[in-house]
Amino acid sequence: MDNTTLWQSVLSSLQSKISKPSFVTWFSNTKIQKKNEEEVVLSVPNIFVREWLQNKFESELISSFQQFLPKIKKIKYVIQKPKSAPQTRALQKATSLDLSQSKMEFTQNRLSGLNPKYTFQNFVVGNFNQLAHACAIAVVKKIGSYNPLFIYSGVGLGKTHLLEAIGNEIVNSRKRKKVRYIPCPNFTSQIITAIRNQSIEKIVEEYSNFDVFIVDDIEFIAGKERTQEVFFRVFNDLTENGKQIVLSSDRPPRAIENIEERLRSRFEGGMIADINLPDFEERMAILERKVEEASIILPQEILNFIAHHVRKNIRDLEGALTRAIVLFEQEKSVKEVQKKLKQFIDEPKKRISPDKVISVVSDFYNLSKKELLSKSRKKELVFPRQVAMFLLRREVNLSLPSIGIKMGNRDHTTVEYGLKKVEEKLKKDGDFSKDLEAIKERVYNS
Ligand code: ADP
Ligand code: MG
Repeated sequence: MDNTTLWQSVLSSLQSKISKPSFVTWFSNTKIQKKNEEEVVLSVPNIFVREWLQNKFESELISSFQQFLPKIKKIKYVIQKPKSAPQTRALQKATSLDLSQSKMEFTQNRLSGLNPKYTFQNFVVGNFNQLAHACAIAVVKKIGSYNPLFIYSGVGLGKTHLLEAIGNEIVNSRKRKKVRYIPCPNFTSQIITAIRNQSIEKIVEEYSNFDVFIVDDIEFIAGKERTQEVFFRVFNDLTENGKQIVLSSDRPPRAIENIEERLRSRFEGGMIADINLPDFEERMAILERKVEEASIILPQEILNFIAHHVRKNIRDLEGALTRAIVLFEQEKSVKEVQKKLKQFIDEPKKRISPDKVISVVSDFYNLSKKELLSKSRKKELVFPRQVAMFLLRREVNLSLPSIGIKMGNRDHTTVEYGLKKVEEKLKKDGDFSKDLEAIKERVYNS
């Protein structure tokens, strides 16, 4: 099968799974550039489409390819501006920049756990995050400045970015320092494994050896007694030896329930810095920086429009920007782009029915609705069931008791437990978070 036919076949199999508007948005101007037995290289029009496909459609794409070429395991991307687009000098420059960027693979470093894409250079500083940024810089300059450095904020406001920037900066500027970044749920599961293998002492020793120990989303330690115990020991070892601990959380230490008092007082004894919401000018500054980094040209009115409408979180700001770039490539009219963007921004508020969620989730996991709602505790059923509960809570805003009733007359504590399970998985399993995005996409667009 030649590349064109193959791509058309893959696209038509995908088309049934993805809503029309998304389909058009994300797959125009794409093609197969080359392939070998296990790998396909797709050509896409810009860095944003690449990120979108990677984050949201990768598993769907691979399984569609596998229908035709069963050995395909991996998809790579190159960025190629569509030929029909007028190529100004600036755009040509942009294309070559994009290309060099597309070669850079941002993969997590196995030893440090750090993702090199998060740096201080691409972190925008404003009033809203100035304190947290200044503390982060202080820690980079002098390891052990405060112990711990504790950064908290709502979701999508840059905690992970800042924590990883600290780690990356130290790794790059002082090669001899040993840095470890770990999301708290991953830390917890290591402890659980260590308990099983009776290797707790080894873990304590391993972690006590780092110069900088960074734990993201430390609120997940709540209720995990053994993890708290191990963490407390590591914490003391490190601080006594002048090492650095950096933590992030979605709330201040005093608001984390179910943690040992001695641990809470350690947290409170460090430097606590919060990140607030960026104001309009700061949101504009962030958007302008992102556009500049990607060497993309977008009319100021569109940036304005996004900064005006997306207020709560920087991740959503990036999402809207991505959408805007793709839309602008198709529409070219600012008004039209704004209109479609508005729909996109309002999208999560679109009302969806509980039955829709249940049917999309059962579909996604190849289960019948009856199985999903049954009493069976088979593992293949329990997790999809919890995913449905999670979406009913987050996207449909049902109360825990109503979710229980909808999901086959279950108790609200079962629902609560289910939500917790999904949240934990979300933090530590990148593949699952892609699945969840794909499910949401279908819930809203099919
Ligand atoms: P959190 O961990 O608080 O949920 P993240 O660090 O994951 O948030 O940030 C969400 C997204 O927003 C990331 O893509 C991140 O790079 C971006 N981001 C957050 N803060 C900034 C900032 N100050 N400048 C540039 N990008 C930012
Ligand atoms: Mg985070």
